[in-house]
Amino acid sequence: MRTALAATIGLVLAAGVATVPASAAPVTTPAGARQVLPANDGWAASTTGTTGGSAADDAHVFVVRNRAELAAALAGGTDPTPRIVLIKGTIRANEDDAGNPLTCADYADPAYSLDGYLAAYDPAVWGRATRPSGPLEEARVRSQRNQAARIQFRVGANTTVYGLPNARLIGGNLLIQNVDNVIVRNVRFEDAADCFPAWDPTDGSLGNWNSAYDLVTLTGATHVWADHNTFSDGNNVDADQPLYLGRPYQVHDGALDIIRASDYVTASWNVFQEHDKTMLIGSSNTVGADVGKLRVTLHHNKFANVGQRVPRVRFGQVDVYNNYYYQTDEDAYSYSWGAGVYSAIHAENNFLQRSADLALEDFVYDWGGTAITEIGTLTRVGTGPVRAVSLVGEYNATHDPDLGTDAGWTPALRAGPVTPTAAVPALVDRGAGAGRA
Ligand code: CA
Ligand code: CA
Repeated sequence: MRTALAATIGLVLAAGVATVPASAAPVTTPAGARQVLPANDGWAASTTGTTGGSAADDAHVFVVRNRAELAAALAGGTDPTPRIVLIKGTIRANEDDAGNPLTCADYADPAYSLDGYLAAYDPAVWGRATRPSGPLEEARVRSQRNQAARIQFRVGANTTVYGLPNARLIGGNLLIQNVDNVIVRNVRFEDAADCFPAWDPTDGSLGNWNSAYDLVTLTGATHVWADHNTFSDGNNVDADQPLYLGRPYQVHDGALDIIRASDYVTASWNVFQEHDKTMLIGSSNTVGADVGKLRVTLHHNKFANVGQRVPRVRFGQVDVYNNYYYQTDEDAYSYSWGAGVYSAIHAENNFLQRSADLALEDFVYDWGGTAITEIGTLTRVGTGPVRAVSLVGEYNATHDPDLGTDAGWTPALRAGPVTPTAAVPALVDRGAGAGRA
């Protein structure tokens, strides 16, 4: 029955696409690609609301099948004419203009080699007091820039990026920078791997490898709606990466990062799975441009075996309601709600499904915050009983200083009634992720 239904839906969607001429737009645009953010649906509904490229004329509806077509349709993010970019099939960001795959070696500066980099910045040689500098680090930066020019896609104002059935962007970073009014729906984003991670011996007590690319980045962006997407590391998961200098070679950065005075963002009905640094809201403790900004609503998302930053918040009033946290891999788990400086997380009716070895006290982490409002959390181990829990309370019982329990604001922007927590897992499993918008 389930298979028959899925097949029927697939046929209906495929029939819509089949009417599209093989070459280019104008096309029969799926209704979902013209949808605007509903009224009151989270912070992105504030003030002017979020309409993306819904007003695009036929000349600005693009069907893109490869990297070159995607780059051309987005026009470098500089043209605010309303546009709809429909991703068809799998697009691989690491390919040349003729469609040939590119490898890390193709981006590497002649002066860079990983072996040379490891030898030069081994703590036994370089120490741990300062970050790498000098010719090899400069060559790494040049190499990274070569890759960035190929895999980063700037999205302009008044744009909707929408995935046709089975659409995927592999290896790319969607960069929504200093623009207003963008919608991203129905896309599978996978594995924006950085070929040239940077070693930072000052990050943590043992040092860390850090990478440059999120799957989707909002920086200085306003009115953005990310809906029904699936974010993951694809077939290039962190567990398969080597250790270098004694630390995991982390080739991934964020899944959906929201930084540098971005504001008015709604992320709904997305799936984030098997990824470490999931969602950074605010990237600096500096009291400056972020003050009063970074307002984000997260609802009906599934966070499945993600490691940390779910989200990690600085400055913003962030409404986290009706999300489904599924954490059954304790080895790859750090924490979920990160309360950073001046953060104001309001968490309501979230469900935490977990394995027995995942400690409730680890769910919250205090990065210099003061309080989290938490209402209606339920948790369950395996198929055991569902029970009410205060995750902030579990944190406070085992850590000092305590976090307060009133983040100081009450969300007003919600599209409908809050879902009873017990209904969240089934509802979100049925509705979240790419292919369902
Ligand atoms: Ca990032
Ligand atoms: Ca305490």
